[in-house]
Amino acid sequence: KGTSGPKGFVVQPRRLPKTTASVRVQDFGEIIVKPTTENIEVQAGRCTDCGVPFCQNACPLQNNIPDWLGLSAEDEMREAWRVASATSTMPEICGRICPQDRLCEGSCTLNQSGWEAVTIGSVEAFIGDTAFDNGWVEPIRPAHERGQSVGIVGAGPAGLAAADRLRSAGYAVTVYDRHDRPGGLLIYGIPGFKLEKRVVQRRTDRLIEGGVEFVQNCNLGVDVTLDELREKHDAVLLAMGVYQARALSVPGGGPGDTVPALDFLIHQNRRDLGEVDNDTWHNAKGRKVVVIGGGDTAMDCVRTAIRQGAESVVCLYRRDRDNMPGSAREVQNAEEEGVVFEWLGAPKALMSRDGTVSSVRAARMALSEPEFGKRREIVPVPGGDFDLQADLVIEALGFEPEEFAAHHNELSLTQWNTVAVARSGFATSLPGVYAAGDAVRGASLVVWAVRDGQDAAAEIDRYLRTQTEEQAA
Ligand code: FAD
Ligand code: SF4
Repeated sequence: KGTSGPKGFVVQPRRLPKTTASVRVQDFGEIIVKPTTENIEVQAGRCTDCGVPFCQNACPLQNNIPDWLGLSAEDEMREAWRVASATSTMPEICGRICPQDRLCEGSCTLNQSGWEAVTIGSVEAFIGDTAFDNGWVEPIRPAHERGQSVGIVGAGPAGLAAADRLRSAGYAVTVYDRHDRPGGLLIYGIPGFKLEKRVVQRRTDRLIEGGVEFVQNCNLGVDVTLDELREKHDAVLLAMGVYQARALSVPGGGPGDTVPALDFLIHQNRRDLGEVDNDTWHNAKGRKVVVIGGGDTAMDCVRTAIRQGAESVVCLYRRDRDNMPGSAREVQNAEEEGVVFEWLGAPKALMSRDGTVSSVRAARMALSEPEFGKRREIVPVPGGDFDLQADLVIEALGFEPEEFAAHHNELSLTQWNTVAVARSGFATSLPGVYAAGDAVRGASLVVWAVRDGQDAAAEIDRYLRTQTEEQAA
């Protein structure tokens, strides 16, 4: 291929073109420019096939990255798809939204040696998209029906990954979700500029065509009980994520003075899906916005507010850039799009004028000296208070499990209220009930939810096979 091959990285720089910031903020489309096959061959050809696949080790799915990079470099896309889809039920989704700088690409040998990582995520997304475009994504057709059923609560990535594997193995699968469409945070959390909704919908369409039944608007604990699901199914998987937003506790704030991050993001996602008109509710257009928090949710809120046409957008975070939980890539994207970061600032009070919020008073913070094995403390700087003008304040302080998980008094929970599972497995304290994804880990990543969903499906399969054998005996 001329430029690809073992020394590709020496002559070819890493290239991952994004739409110019001033253009991309005009809409909610994905910001990565769709690569051509030639671009992908060149970028995949930068892989040195170093022999110690640190990238694979750093991938929660243990994706066979060097193999599918090599195949992509040789334009063997169909074979690359076969390899990529063997370990992942949604490569085109993870390829788009994994924080690769902290996972596969962060560990790439080229990155470690100063040559800049191979664009692993972008190649993976391209392989998946190419497979869908060419009809290589096979429909789910189980070899035989097993005559047992599994109920899954939650149609997020953990639930969808498990549904894919269990239906393929021949189980009747029903997914219950309280939202009106499947996808979990892939649909109603993560904005379209990171992951367009059509990419999620074609995955769920495939599951529906393969025989997975989705029961939407069904809230476990309200519309159905866990015991009813256990009665109905041979096994149950709990994959309902974590949705209790951590609340801001500062004086001055009244009801409606702040907007929870997920409400803000869900409303915009509903606009993108054409479910609500372009109304003014949770709309940042023409407003001075302050987003409080430093995780990926905060990054999604600031970038959404910019796209809605906010007059100004400030992200207030109590630690500094190096100590924030959000992905460095997302901070860079936000800065390019015009977001101002107020590092080392902690909210202290909400100030109001004429009954509506007018500014956020914040304390200037400083980080304690680094100590081995400890996260640096933050302490207020005396006399360092400052005010940020705001007429829309968004709280993005993270999520915890909802109380609802305790709806069954024999379901054990951890001290953090997540569902307790057996060591190195997914079985809960209730026989035949398993749990996976954020509901077990707490707020985490899509790729971990996919891994859990796949592994939980394998464990449920083993459990149900044992049940069948015991019954036969
Ligand atoms: P979820 O995706 O939360 O799905 C759970 C499903 O269960 C939902 O559909 C919900 O409606 C349903 N449910 C909940 N309770 C009930 C109930 N009682 N009855 C019935 N159904 C119920 N991760 C990344 O890797 N990259 C990112 O860029 C990224 N960005 C994010 C942005 C935001 C705004 C947020 C909030 C998270 C982001 N994450 C990101 C994290 C990622 O989305 C989650 O880790 C992942 O979605 C967890 O998957 P899950 O299947 O466990 O849960
Ligand atoms: Fe990298 Fe995520 Fe793909 Fe694994 S799943 S190779 S971590 S982008």
